Formats: sequence, C-alpha cells, structure tokens
Amino acid sequence: MSPAISPLRTIYRTPPYLLPESEARVVEILRKSGPYSRTEIADITGYSRAKITSVVNHLIELQVVEETGEGDSHGGRRPRILNFNAGFGVVAGVDMGATSLDGALANFKGQIIERRSVSIDVRDGPDSVLNCVCALVAEMLRNQEIAAEQLCAVGIGVPGPVEFSTGLLIAPPIMPGWEAYPIRNFIRGVFPSAIVIVDNDVNVMVLGELRAGAGIREENFFFVKVGTGIGCGIVVGGKVYRGSTGCAGDIGHICVDRNGVVCHCGNIGCLEAMAAGPAIAQRAVAAALAGGSPILEKILKANNGTLTAKDVGAAGAAGERAANEIIRESGRMIGEVLASLVNFFNPSLILIGGGVSNIGHQFLASIRRNVLHRSLPLSTRHLRIDYSMIGADAGITGAVYLALDHVFAMKRERAG
Ligand SMILES: [Zn+2]
Repeated sequence: MSPAISPLRTIYRTPPYLLPESEARVVEILRKSGPYSRTEIADITGYSRAKITSVVNHLIELQVVEETGEGDSHGGRRPRILNFNAGFGVVAGVDMGATSLDGALANFKGQIIERRSVSIDVRDGPDSVLNCVCALVAEMLRNQEIAAEQLCAVGIGVPGPVEFSTGLLIAPPIMPGWEAYPIRNFIRGVFPSAIVIVDNDVNVMVLGELRAGAGIREENFFFVKVGTGIGCGIVVGGKVYRGSTGCAGDIGHICVDRNGVVCHCGNIGCLEAMAAGPAIAQRAVAAALAGGSPILEKILKANNGTLTAKDVGAAGAAGERAANEIIRESGRMIGEVLASLVNFFNPSLILIGGGVSNIGHQFLASIRRNVLHRSLPLSTRHLRIDYSMIGADAGITGAVYLALDHVFAMKRERAG
C-alpha cells in the first residue's frame, strides 16, 4: 500500500470524492477498462491533447492515476501508460447470507487482498450481525497492517429488499428486526472514513458478473439466483437496473400455479414457493414417503426425516428417476417464467447461480428447454443460458465493485 495520502482525502473526510466532469470521466474509463496511453484516452473522450495533459497531470498529483510503464511504439517515442492507482486506498466488500458473512478487502483495482468468512444468523438482528461485519472488516485490516483510515468504502449485499437510495431494508421476509434499520450509520460509526453502500444480494451478484464474471462483455443480461428463494439481477445497457424503488427483478413472487402452495408473502403458487430449495426438498420427502424413490428414502432415514435440495441432486446423480423428475419440474417452472422475461426484455445472456443451481445438469437443461420452447425465435437467436462463471464469488466480487463505484463522483459545475 502506498503510505502517502491523496490531497483528495484531506479535502473530503469521506467519499464521494468530487472531481470535475473531465477528470471524473478519465477516472471512470481507466477504472473500468484501463490501462491506456494519453493518446488512447484522447481517442475515447474526444478531448484535445492539451486538455488530456492537464487532466492527467492533476489526477497524478491527486494520486488517483499513476504512470505504470511504457506501451508499444508506433514509430517515435514509446507512449507512457496510465493506470488507476491501485494503492489509493482500500475498500471492503461484504456478502451477507442468512447464515454466513463473507468479507473481502480489495485494492482500488478491485483485486482482493484478504478474505474471511464467519457463521452468523441474520435472525439475531442487526446489532449483533453488524457488530460481526465490523469485526470482520477490522480483522482483515489488522492482518494486512492497513490503518482503518485507509478504508474508503464498504459495499454490502443483504438477503432482502433494499431501497437503494437510503440503503434501508423494507419488509425483509427472512430478517426480522431489520426493517428500516440504519445499516450505513452503524458501520460509519465504526469506520468514519468510509462511505457505506447497501444493496440487495442479487443486485450485488449481477454487478460481480458484469465487472469480473461472464457478463464482462454483455450489455443486457440477467443473473438468476436459486437458493432458499429466487431472485433476478438485471443489467441494462451495461448498468445494474434496480427499478424505481430498488426491487426490480423480484421474480420469486410471480405466480406459476393458481392451485399451488401458499407462499410466505401470502399469495398462492409463487415461483419461489413452488421451485426453490425448500419446495424441491418437500417434494423429495413426499416422493420418499410414497415409496417411489429408494435412494431418497434411504437418505431420509439417515437424515432423521429431512431432505435438502442437495440430497435430491445426489439422488439424481445416482440415477434416481423420481429425483430427476423433481429437478426437471423445478427447472420447468423457472424456465417458463424466464421465457416471459426473455420475450419482454430480450437479454443476450442468462446466468444461473445460487446454492440450488448445482443440483445436476438436468436443472440447467430443463431451464434451457423451457426458455427456448416458449420464447420468440428472434429473442433466443443469440441468447446463452449458463451457470455463473464466478459461482460463489459473485456476491463478494460484486460487493467490492459496489464499494469502488461510489468512491468518486462528478462535481456539479455551476451553469453559465
Ligand atoms: Zn410469494
């Protein structure tokens, strides 16, 4: 880590660090797709050479940008290559699940330098869990011998609906006691040098895929998380789309069966209640008790009368017909909902992730079959449906980029 402190960090106690429009643009370009030479930046921005020189010189002075070596010469002097200064400071990303916290510390290029996980129970309430979050971040800083003042931002993904503008959870079904709890203030109280950004876990995962996963070259795509619930992160035009209040993509409560089971939201036949992990497990218990599945029956006995989606995957892999039927049925319902979304939205990629997604190839095959069967031919011509490339790391990676995305902002210049 560079020990020097940028003048920006003495002007602003916490991010966002405000930059004039031209400087903010160059920072954004270098941060998301750098390194570049001055000539390349001029080509991308359309700024004059003189303007680039003054912008870049100032950014170097602020220690936001650094010269990292020489590029290829196309005749004449070799151009100096500019990059975002990875050592400007550090950020933390936290992926909060119902029963676990995964934390990472990253430099300003998003490279993870330390990571840590602990078990929690979100039902213990915000005070207890957020104390764990702060202790986890503090421990990672200590391990890396980084002063707490070097922490510029914390990004957190939480398993519930978040009003993004305020960072507040609104009626979270699996997080009692978290309703409108001031998460940002709590963490800022411990790390006053950091800006804190809170978002729904699936939005964070889709951001991870956009910046460092399978979505890196995609403009319009979905990330579907199948676990205890079902949610969908949406990228439109290269940006995460959150809707007007932050809950775009909550596809778990689309009705797939008017005669289905009652969902925890109070409605009947929601996708989540019919096709997520608990529904798969429940159907498997019924199959085992009905005597139609010797392998599931054996696991049920060994597990004291319970089964998980993972058990169904294991039985399916062993060739159990009933287990594969359950997996295909869950894939069918998810595929049918996705087909409607494909017709409506026309994405180029759908990524499937989350704890239940790896219960067997039948699952992905069934989703694919149903999407292709029920969507318009033009909408599926270039559509890929695949497993997440970064898998379990999508949440932590996205949380790091969520933090980084909020460190710099454009200064509003006075009109006239
Ligand atoms: Zn529901």
